[in-house]
Amino acid sequence: MSSWNEVADRVYQRRYDPLDVSVCVVAGSDGLLLVDTRCNPREAGELAADVAELSSAPIRWVANTHAHYDHSFGNQVFPDTSIFGHHLIARHFAEFEGPRLESWLAAPESQPHYDWRDVRLTPPTVPVTDVLSLDLGDRLVRFHPLPPGHTDTDLIVEIPDAATWLLGDVVEESGPPMYGSGSFPLGWPGVLDNIAELIAPGDVLVPGHGRPVDRAFLLEQAAVLHIVADGIRSSFDQSEPIESASERVASMSRLPLEIVESAVLRGYTQLAASAGASE
Ligand SMILES: [Zn+2]
Repeated sequence: MSSWNEVADRVYQRRYDPLDVSVCVVAGSDGLLLVDTRCNPREAGELAADVAELSSAPIRWVANTHAHYDHSFGNQVFPDTSIFGHHLIARHFAEFEGPRLESWLAAPESQPHYDWRDVRLTPPTVPVTDVLSLDLGDRLVRFHPLPPGHTDTDLIVEIPDAATWLLGDVVEESGPPMYGSGSFPLGWPGVLDNIAELIAPGDVLVPGHGRPVDRAFLLEQAAVLHIVADGIRSSFDQSEPIESASERVASMSRLPLEIVESAVLRGYTQLAASAGASE
């Protein structure tokens, strides 16, 4: 049984299965900001009921930390809100999540733990292109859209008066960093370096999966992601086959082999594309 955890002043985190995904609520005097919406309308409906138990104030705003299904496929349940998200989410839905959703719907037996039938992909109604402040009444939050990292749609939410940051999957605590569909393993560590510049040592960081962490944890994760990115670059330069490169990078980074394999594949594709473009 999960429950709301007040991780900072009027900032609440709840962790849901499947995937131990974090959902957060930031309460202001004018209403509630809900950050991430779970996997489908049924789960999002349960979420809305859980939020109603937390507070009688209305959900007036929703934000997505990125386009992945466990963070955004419940958006349709909140039609009367303004939905904030990275401006590239609509494109990411068209390129990655839409085709994946179609293939899952065509073969539901491949996805026994998920119900995708009623999902209608609902991109943000407020596409965020630059740092944007939102007034919740008695407090502000700031949305920071990021360059490509975990995806090309990452956006972090800063709550300055609570020294708290909702990071989505650019940092993960309960599992390894996920190089999934649409990841950018070469750019991701630099994105974390830049975020670290904005964050103070005592700030509360809420990852997309897992318990709240601090700046030191973020820097440790950045160091691991640097090892992966450097390993991909040097292996590519030496034309090392993907299989042996993955094994080498996995042992250097101590990440699971299948995770590193998808990072190497993505990295090689991106390096080959940029080599082709500069010829
Ligand atoms: Zn993700």
